[in-house]
Amino acid sequence: MLEWEPVIGLEIHVQLKTRTKMFCRCENVWGEEENTRTCPICLAHPGTLPVANRTAIEWAIKLGLALGCEIAPRALFHRKHYFYPDLPKGYQISQYDVPLASGGRFVLPTAEGDREIGIVRAHLEEDAAKTIHVGGSAGRIAGAEYSLVDFNRGGTPLVEVVSEPDVRSPDEARRFLQLLRRTVVELEISDAEMEKGSLRCDANVSLREVGESGFRTKTELKNMNSFKFVADGITAELERQRDIYEGGGEVVQETLHYDPSTGSVAPLRSKEYADDYRYFPEPDLVPVEPPAGMVEAARAEIGELPGARIRRLEAEVGFDLAEGLVSGGRDRLFEEVPGDRRAVANVLMNQFAALSIDPAQVNAAELGKLIEARETLPRSTFAEALMATGDPDFRADSYLVEVAISDFDELDPVLDRVIAANEAQVTSFKAGKEGVLGYLVGQVMRETQGKANPKVVNERLREKLGA
Ligand code: ADP
Ligand code: MG
Ligand code: ZN
Repeated sequence: MLEWEPVIGLEIHVQLKTRTKMFCRCENVWGEEENTRTCPICLAHPGTLPVANRTAIEWAIKLGLALGCEIAPRALFHRKHYFYPDLPKGYQISQYDVPLASGGRFVLPTAEGDREIGIVRAHLEEDAAKTIHVGGSAGRIAGAEYSLVDFNRGGTPLVEVVSEPDVRSPDEARRFLQLLRRTVVELEISDAEMEKGSLRCDANVSLREVGESGFRTKTELKNMNSFKFVADGITAELERQRDIYEGGGEVVQETLHYDPSTGSVAPLRSKEYADDYRYFPEPDLVPVEPPAGMVEAARAEIGELPGARIRRLEAEVGFDLAEGLVSGGRDRLFEEVPGDRRAVANVLMNQFAALSIDPAQVNAAELGKLIEARETLPRSTFAEALMATGDPDFRADSYLVEVAISDFDELDPVLDRVIAANEAQVTSFKAGKEGVLGYLVGQVMRETQGKANPKVVNERLREKLGA
């Protein structure tokens, strides 16, 4: 049996959430009525001229720096030509031989040590319009009766991040993408939501024998719209290529579409060669020459990166919890919540994560109190209380008092049972042994699985015992 090694490089599109589009002043929004955010520039009327969005340039620089790239002192825009209804100019303004950022590396922590993924480049471009295919299967063009075009998306700023073919497994691709997503979300430059298309990923995939030098022919998997589909699509393609090689065949370079409903890949269109795009410098835009001050200001806005935070938290809670907390955006809350580190991490990663509460809204000290009290609470009460922590005014003590049973109709039968079952203690309490009351309250708490309000139980017991 041959041993095969996957070789994977990702091309990731990050849609920037600037207020306006890349080259015009149309509002950059998602989910509005179709073709209501357009103008002569993004509709490519003759004679109109693009003007680059300064914020988009600043944010692309910020992302480039976070990926450890060099920022070009003089970057160029190029026209990339192709013919399709989503591109009314007949070309996309993109970057070619001199991208804004290049030559970086992304450190991906793993349980076994750091993996380094080279970053070839991060360049700025405009998004194409969105085509909607009607009548075919699964919204694809094949078999569609007709197609509609929504130009609201046309001209939205995109950063395309291209990795070196350094990724070695489907799972590593998924984790790389998740951590890159976390990075852009924290830089506050994109929503980076795969299901909305503001984060998109193509995977270049090939196989080689372990120990072989050089790479073999790759295929390109397009637009998988969830982290899971990225991993599943790559897995399916690796299996397909292995079967071809083991059957004595050759892999041909092509673009493929992964269909999650069948788990299979199918050809999309034959790969265009770079020459087909007839790249040439965009004559309507000046080169981008970011002043040193702009680059330094961008650098100053980058905080501690997610990978570094995983390493820091790993010592406290182990790798898996650390990675989960950071990728899920809950590590900053974790660091503020007092209490046993593993208990806090586990609650945040399990019950709390399931509630999709905005961690920024949570009062960490109160959440800490609640987590500390959880052993004394029934599961359902704890789950409900956790839900309530989404309110910044949540206070653990008063919440627990309020939800606790204080109702005499519910309490009395339990109290009566406890009194009847503990004759000796009742007698000694009546004889003046105050301390025994605590024991009786404890019995009531046990019978109600912690749901009773201890203060109310205490008072009601005294009443019943005639004290
Ligand atoms: P193309 O000219 O086809 O766009 P590039 O050299 O620009 O190819 O690389 C595009 C992407 O494909 C990059 O992410 C790169 O890391 C990846 N890649 C290149 N060669 C291979 C290969 N043999 N196997 C897997 N990925 C590859
Ligand atoms: Mg390419
Ligand atoms: Zn416009």
